[in-house]
Amino acid sequence: MIDPVCPESTLPWLTDTLPTGAPAVLPPDARAELVTLPEIDAPSLLLARHFTVGRTSPVSLIVIHTAEVDCRVGAAAAVARYFAGPTAPQASAHYVVGPELVVQCVRESDTAWHAPGANPRAIGIELTARATWSAEQWAAPEVEAMLARAAGVVAGICRRHGVPLEHIEAEALRMGVSGIPGHVDVSQAFHKSDHFDPGPHFPWAHFLVLVRAS
Ligand SMILES: [Zn+2]
Repeated sequence: MIDPVCPESTLPWLTDTLPTGAPAVLPPDARAELVTLPEIDAPSLLLARHFTVGRTSPVSLIVIHTAEVDCRVGAAAAVARYFAGPTAPQASAHYVVGPELVVQCVRESDTAWHAPGANPRAIGIELTARATWSAEQWAAPEVEAMLARAAGVVAGICRRHGVPLEHIEAEALRMGVSGIPGHVDVSQAFHKSDHFDPGPHFPWAHFLVLVRAS
């Protein structure tokens, strides 16, 4: 993809800037999981290499991203392995969601590096999807399966942390409102990133119907 908005990479997390704060240090138990899980085909927990232990703020945002991969069986595990592996980007997200699988890469009690400006109070969700997709591509059956799975994850986070089931945009983010923005909304609110995922045709209304039904 050649895109004037995001020219450096088609992978939104590759050009994310590092957050300030404590360096990423894997807790001892996480190191054990990192060693034992990468060979499993369908891991449900595979900790990312880079994140910040703990949080400085309660969770009040769920940020939706696209991982810039095709939506297919195996894609979520591949993205999670990339976050965990020796060539991991200086980025991470709490969950990666595919059509058949959800992989948790960062514990909700820890801070992932996915949306500069919002990370301390956010949980990040990477969808196996592309920000350049058309409305028709977002409506494909395998994508619908992925969205339904992601909706279940988001609904659970909303219940656990009291996050409202509402899409919020840049102005609300700047005012400190809680809810569910896209990475693009965080970029426009804080100008620390130029990423525009999940893209202009992401079906927000449909996705929130799925979340509320979960
Ligand atoms: Zn993103």
